Amino acid sequence: MDAKNYPRMEEEILKYWDRNRIFEKSLKNREGCKKFVFLEGPPTANGLPHPGHVLTRTMKDVVLRYKTMKGFYVARKAGWDTHGLPVEIEVEKMLGLRNKQEIEEYGIERFNEECKKSVFRYEEAWKEMTRRVGFWINMDNPYITLENDYIESVWWSLKEAWKKGLLFRGYKVTPYCPRCGTTLSSHEVAQGYKEVEDPSIFVKFKIKGKDEYFLAWTTTPWTLISNVALAVHPEEWYVKIEYEGEKLILAEERAAVLLKGKEYNEIDRYKGSELEGIEYEPLYKFVEPEKKCWFVILADFVTMDEGTGIVHIAPAFGEEDYEAGRKYDLPVIQLVDLEGKFKEEVKPWAGKFVKDADREIIEDLKNRGLLVSEHKYSHQYPFCWRCDSPLLYYAIESWFIGMSRLREHLVKNNEKINWYPEYIKHGRFGEFIREARDWALSRKRYWGTPLPVWVCQKCGKEICIGGIEELRQKAINFPEKLDLHRPYVDKILLKCEECGGEMKRVEEVIDAWYDSGSAPFAQWHYPFENEKVFKENFPADFICEAIDQTRGWFYSLLAISTLLFDEAPYKNVLTLGLILDEKGQKMSKKARNYVEPAEIFQKYGADALRWYLISASPPWQPKRFYEKVVKDVLSKFLLTLWNVFSFYETYARLDDFDYGRDAVKCEERELIDKWILSRLHNLIKNVEEKMEVFEVHKAARAIEEFVIEDLSNWYLRNSRKRFWSEERSKEKMAGYSTLYEVLTSVAKIIAPFTPFIAEKIYLEMEKGESVHLCDYPESSKEMINEELEERMETVRKIVEEARALRAKHGIKLRRPLKEIIIVADKNLEEFAGLIKDEINVKNVVFATEDNQFMEEIAKPNYAKLGPKFKEKARQVAEAIEKAGKEIRKVEIDGKEYELSEEDFIIEKKAKEGYAVGSVDGITIALNLVQTPELIAEGFAREIVRRIQEMRKEMNLEMEERIVVEIDIDKEKLGEWENYVKNETRSDEIIYKRQPEGEHVKEWEIEGEKINIGIRRK
Ligand SMILES: [Zn+2]
Ligand SMILES: [Zn+2]
Repeated sequence: MDAKNYPRMEEEILKYWDRNRIFEKSLKNREGCKKFVFLEGPPTANGLPHPGHVLTRTMKDVVLRYKTMKGFYVARKAGWDTHGLPVEIEVEKMLGLRNKQEIEEYGIERFNEECKKSVFRYEEAWKEMTRRVGFWINMDNPYITLENDYIESVWWSLKEAWKKGLLFRGYKVTPYCPRCGTTLSSHEVAQGYKEVEDPSIFVKFKIKGKDEYFLAWTTTPWTLISNVALAVHPEEWYVKIEYEGEKLILAEERAAVLLKGKEYNEIDRYKGSELEGIEYEPLYKFVEPEKKCWFVILADFVTMDEGTGIVHIAPAFGEEDYEAGRKYDLPVIQLVDLEGKFKEEVKPWAGKFVKDADREIIEDLKNRGLLVSEHKYSHQYPFCWRCDSPLLYYAIESWFIGMSRLREHLVKNNEKINWYPEYIKHGRFGEFIREARDWALSRKRYWGTPLPVWVCQKCGKEICIGGIEELRQKAINFPEKLDLHRPYVDKILLKCEECGGEMKRVEEVIDAWYDSGSAPFAQWHYPFENEKVFKENFPADFICEAIDQTRGWFYSLLAISTLLFDEAPYKNVLTLGLILDEKGQKMSKKARNYVEPAEIFQKYGADALRWYLISASPPWQPKRFYEKVVKDVLSKFLLTLWNVFSFYETYARLDDFDYGRDAVKCEERELIDKWILSRLHNLIKNVEEKMEVFEVHKAARAIEEFVIEDLSNWYLRNSRKRFWSEERSKEKMAGYSTLYEVLTSVAKIIAPFTPFIAEKIYLEMEKGESVHLCDYPESSKEMINEELEERMETVRKIVEEARALRAKHGIKLRRPLKEIIIVADKNLEEFAGLIKDEINVKNVVFATEDNQFMEEIAKPNYAKLGPKFKEKARQVAEAIEKAGKEIRKVEIDGKEYELSEEDFIIEKKAKEGYAVGSVDGITIALNLVQTPELIAEGFAREIVRRIQEMRKEMNLEMEERIVVEIDIDKEKLGEWENYVKNETRSDEIIYKRQPEGEHVKEWEIEGEKINIGIRRK
């Protein structure tokens, strides 16, 4: 198998799994075992899956397969998130509807019908991606948030909240999307902040009856239309100044900042509290306010960080403003409609979207001489995460879940959760829940779980319905065929228990985040049925989604479970980083900056994509994703493993090796066999430790290092000779036994990560039905030999160093060297053969002293010589260098000088003809002497390599015989001619000036141009 047909291998495995129902069997296999409960975060199938979804599905699958192999029963129920505005928006676009009025004209019934259809538009694409990536999840029996059973469970939970007084109607300034016509919950708002540039203006408010002004600052000029007060901080100091001929009042501290370097006179100074109640003339008066307004109020939220220390107050558009307004009983002047446009009372700008009116309002103020200055201001402003419209803060009626009252419980329950990575627990998430706001639950929309509150049309009594049976009992007109969606549910009228009047449902539906957050119980239709199942599956052991769910699903799950059960709904949560493109940009459908997953599967396969996503970085870190990285994984890791396997396959088959019959006992195997088995068992231990804490990337990297470095680059390379030998020797059988054990274990180890190649190797080697029905390998202490591993590590370092020494002296590895001398304090003699082969030396000599290749020399100690010999110092130094270490006196200009031991330093130096290096306190020396025999052998190896390459270029079969012509003298190969012939399967070597053949090529070997010609025999 090569890169090209890898994906085809995967397709065949997929078919094999389907045909043999391997997934089902993997579950059946573990029936009755300890449960590992997984809760699937439901995706929405009204869009195509993108690489981010591939990431979440891969990570979930790795963990779930791993736990299954570790002996747990891991049920996997799929889920679909089906309600909510994103669905409505898609349908609006499709039908060409522009706003709610047009939806209602089109008809809620037909509109919702379209929504329902669209939810599963891409279900097939999702199923196909899920199957292709190898994610084993039960998609035949998913939970679906739009089903009556699911909705009924959600209703039950809402009634529980109602009973506790935690579901209530309120008037509150909430973030509002004028395009979608709905409020957003705080966790939704948190998702859509963007850096924007807004106008920043300083505006004058004229004090009644005086030629003096309050100076205020705002970045939302359109809210000035609804201004009712100015707020100052009671404890801060304010000044009246004369500036450019005008009298202005502002905070002292701010004046110093804003007017720095400018000329102004301070006329007066007040404590903020002294300003309370001072009246001013309104900037705009489009309606007559029903209460007293336009005076100075006191507020603690006024800061000295920006602006003038005087804050303009519009209770219709700000949470703090609204609260302050309640305190001072200020009117709410709401002159903006629900589409974010000025109402008709605002004559000059009626019908205009408020933010679009900013410019004209500024011009108007300027013309009236009320604008002091104007700037641009960059800040973070919230946008609708669905439709990208700027949000407005808006006093609006809404239904709330009183989460702010449950803060302590949220914090307490969060303590029971293991977060991966840990810092989210008290960081991003912890901070969020400590400040939890009331959950603005209702949406004045159509496609969602209807809020089950009915209101009496006569006496105003409100009741909450907690289930279908309750609804049936109270209904006047319970329908035959029940659909809990709008508009059907709206038609059901109840009878008021207080006054006998008719009760109608309020028109709101609820936030879809509440739906998905109800999954732990609603997926089982709890409490109406499946009580036992629910209890067995709550709380979940494991959930895993992208990091942007921190304030989304992770929060809604905890919020609802805290409300209902005062319990954390999951024990472990693995958060995943975002997927970025090659340049580190966020992937988006708009920018189309990603390759379709389907295309990657087709070209490189799912294993490669999975392995990249798993091993590239910690799960919670962002990952760059593009074609090349996947391609690299395939060649670097997967095909390396495959090549080791196919090497084994080829040779074991040639020798008719049968593990059951021919296996050699461990004790009787070669040292390197014992070593690779020790490494294997260390790997298993390591992987287990990492998987326990979801450090899947570390597990993957350990596996990769084992396969590439230990198994392929070291073990196999150094065992090849054994397998090439003709006879069926014991060493050879020991090698096969070892390779068999290692490869079958590796297949199991990688099964959760790259399930396809794991299965392929397993099925080729074992008689079992599937690697995914196996137990995960256990690490055996007896197999681990740390001492052996340590010595082998030293050997590898010695080899590395010796190769570096060769490179430094320009001697290629193909040229054999006479010997290496190793001065080590540990026993490495058993590895002599290995070292010999690896660094191509004729002899490995172990020594206790380095005197064979090192000599001691004397070096002048300039620090001493200078003061002692003054101007003669240089001559003394030269004499020392010449004389060597035995020197005791020098003669300069006929005069003799005594030397003390301090005058020179004894140093060690490599003798001529040796290259010396050291690793881990071990000294090694390569004897660089070049004899004609060694040169000829090296040359012969160079020739062999060239001929092999040419054979490859000619596409010759392994066994095919050739005749070689070459333009060198026969003496140059000397006694190595036979070696060349054997290695290259040449019958004859002809030495002639102009070589001929089917393939003739000029090579440069050791600086010499050499022509080689080859023809088939
Ligand atoms: Zn919107
Ligand atoms: Zn009533």
